[in-house]
Amino acid sequence: MTCIFCDILSGSAPASFVHQDDLCAAFMDIRPINPGHILVVPRAHAVWLSELDSESTGHLFQVAQQVDSALRSSGLRCEGVNLFLADGRAAGQEVMHVHLHVIPRYKGDGHHLRFSPAYFTRTPEAELAVNAGLIRSRMK
Ligand code: AMP
Ligand code: ZN
Repeated sequence: MTCIFCDILSGSAPASFVHQDDLCAAFMDIRPINPGHILVVPRAHAVWLSELDSESTGHLFQVAQQVDSALRSSGLRCEGVNLFLADGRAAGQEVMHVHLHVIPRYKGDGHHLRFSPAYFTRTPEAELAVNAGLIRSRMK
């Protein structure tokens, strides 16, 4: 199995790193939504977030917080930040190794999230309660 992010983390493929430690690394996305777009990637190969150990998961978000802070004072245009994680192909995941996007944003940058039609209709409380129950019963 070849994985481009495992190759980057092992040093056999190139990347521009901003951070490396025992659990994860952060490097520049080669197709940035805006200049400064960074990927925070765990060293452990896991396809989905649910497969990743909890220490790496927590650490991923801590490093994303540091990257967020560094971006804001880097001189790159950054009026806000989006964190984005595509978990599964239906959610837009293209590289099947967990990664967290840290994307600098500014007004008028042309990047948009598109909402489904369902977003514009408020869901009845009863339906929310049923759905919450389904998920609550599976919380570990
Ligand atoms: P996703 O759709 O969340 O799986 O996004 C994968 C991201 O990885 C995309 O934004 C790509 O531009 C980025 N990417 C793919 N290959 C590389 C690479 N070799 N180095 C840096 N970023 C990459
Ligand atoms: Zn991998």
